[in-house]
Amino acid sequence: MSVRIRKPLFLSCLLLGLVLLCSTLTYQFSVQHGIDALREQGNRQLELHTRGVESEIERFVWLPGLLQLNPVTLQLLQSPDASHQLEVNRYLAAMNERSGTLAIYVLDSGGRVLASSNWRRSDSYVGEDLSFRPYYTDAMAGRPGRFYGIGSTIGEAGYYLSSPLRVNGRIAGVAVVKVRLGQLEAGWRKAGADVFIADENGVIILASKPRWRLNVIHPLSQERRNQLAQSLQYHWASLPLLQLKSRRTLSPGLDRWELSDPDVAAPEGRLFLAQSRTLNDTRWQLTLLSPLAAVKAAAWTHAMLAATIVAVLTLLLIAWNERRKVIATRLSAREALQAANSELERRIEERTADLSASNERLLAEIRERELAEQTLRKAQNELIQAGKLAVIGQMSTSIAHELNQPLAALRTLSGNTVKFLARGAYDTAAANLKTIGELVERMGKITGSLRSFARRSEHADGQARLETAVDAALFLLQPRLSRHPVTVQREFDDVLLAIDQTRLEQILVNLIGNALDALQGVPAACVRLSGQRDGGRYQLTVADNGGGLPEQVRQHLFEPFFTTKPQGSGLGLGLTLSASLAAAANGTLQAQPLPQGAAFVLQLPLCPEQELHHV
Ligand code: ADP
Repeated sequence: MSVRIRKPLFLSCLLLGLVLLCSTLTYQFSVQHGIDALREQGNRQLELHTRGVESEIERFVWLPGLLQLNPVTLQLLQSPDASHQLEVNRYLAAMNERSGTLAIYVLDSGGRVLASSNWRRSDSYVGEDLSFRPYYTDAMAGRPGRFYGIGSTIGEAGYYLSSPLRVNGRIAGVAVVKVRLGQLEAGWRKAGADVFIADENGVIILASKPRWRLNVIHPLSQERRNQLAQSLQYHWASLPLLQLKSRRTLSPGLDRWELSDPDVAAPEGRLFLAQSRTLNDTRWQLTLLSPLAAVKAAAWTHAMLAATIVAVLTLLLIAWNERRKVIATRLSAREALQAANSELERRIEERTADLSASNERLLAEIRERELAEQTLRKAQNELIQAGKLAVIGQMSTSIAHELNQPLAALRTLSGNTVKFLARGAYDTAAANLKTIGELVERMGKITGSLRSFARRSEHADGQARLETAVDAALFLLQPRLSRHPVTVQREFDDVLLAIDQTRLEQILVNLIGNALDALQGVPAACVRLSGQRDGGRYQLTVADNGGGLPEQVRQHLFEPFFTTKPQGSGLGLGLTLSASLAAAANGTLQAQPLPQGAAFVLQLPLCPEQELHHV
């Protein structure tokens, strides 16, 4: 069984046990308390009823002794004749009527009835032998007699009080008064009390419930029963045992009885608290039965109440405990969350510090890089410029030659013109001057293109018209082209390329210049400039049918200062610079060996307008 199931089960058992224990204790306490209260109340009632019975009896105690004062009665005892008997009979009848007793009669010393208040009735006691009655024997012994019994003549129950009658100091007879105690029972019933009186034999002689009457509260031995039957004290009554189911003595004079009362269905209704007390001057016991049903019911109620309270309190306690646990869990969870939060914050702070430090480092690095880039760009520009100047240097001989020719022609022409002017040959002089002008213009063009080539270009971006750039390059290389017969094939489009014009010219001068170098002494020398579009780019191939690119040359082509040319002719910077100029304009420059000769492929981005134009 898992802990999760075991715990509530244990708690439920504990709760049940606690509730049972508390309700049992409360029940017992309540019963005890109820019994105590009932006993107190019973004691008072018992006292009251005892007094009532005693006073009822005492009213008549003096009555039998009173006959001692009546001389006729004494005379009757001395000489029992009819006249005396009649007189005493009348006297007794009058007395009986006045005192409200059942009967008053006089016995002679032998126990025979001499005179009786009921002398007129057919069932009169007169003449009856009552010597077997204890009240007779008691009185004859000089003691006042007390006896409860059922009359032997008419079977009426009554209390007999007797007193000896003395003549000349000798007991000559017995005076007997029989009183009715039935009114006591009526009084008890009226008060709603369960009360009975048991005599010295344990026989109930008076009871608030008539069915209890003449029942015995203790079992009688057969011998005792025979004696009682002979004495006729209870006439012919069978004297059954009071139907008592159980009897428990709680304290002296206090019992707990359970009657098997057929009238009461509920078992609680048969439970009683029995309190007994012995009546004065008798051996009788007055017993008061107080029903325990109310006590039991109250105890049940109290037990239920206690169980409910305990259950509610325990449940509240459990709920409170659970709530306390939940709060504690929540608190610890919150604390853990806070701890995790602060840990996270701390880490974030650390990380942020790290990040800002590395950011600082990166920024510093970027600044350094920018600086390096600036330096590099500056150096590159210087290099480009140097490369240009080198080319110009290389071309200086041929340029000088190119300029010398018109200069020599100018000198000759100007000298001739002076002579023609002196001769008056103006037309010829004019024609010479025209030629001079054309030569000057050509020289200006050469120096202009040189100046423009030598111009410093700081920016990689810009726009270059391919045709113009090729024209400018060929113009610069014109002196060399004119020296050696080389066919130049132009098979490209006049496109706008995204590169500075002079930079493109510089690349082309390098590539065509290299081709012319390779074509020296080659028959049917040819330089082929072919172009084709490649997406947003344009590819220009400069091919020649010269000596080509041997493997060892091809490996080092783009290395700076690599040259195969004789000293003074080449610096070994041409291809390196051209490749870097192309790269700066987002282009490429690659060498391609041909079966006959070499080819250099220049790829450059087209200008956006150009692209749109051709789409
Ligand atoms: P330079 O022209 O000053 O030698 P370059 O960088 O322009 O420097 O060329 C390097 C070398 O590449 C040249 O010396 C040459 O050997 C080789 N080269 C360049 N172009 C060609 C070509 N079209 N045909 C054969 N070899 C070439």
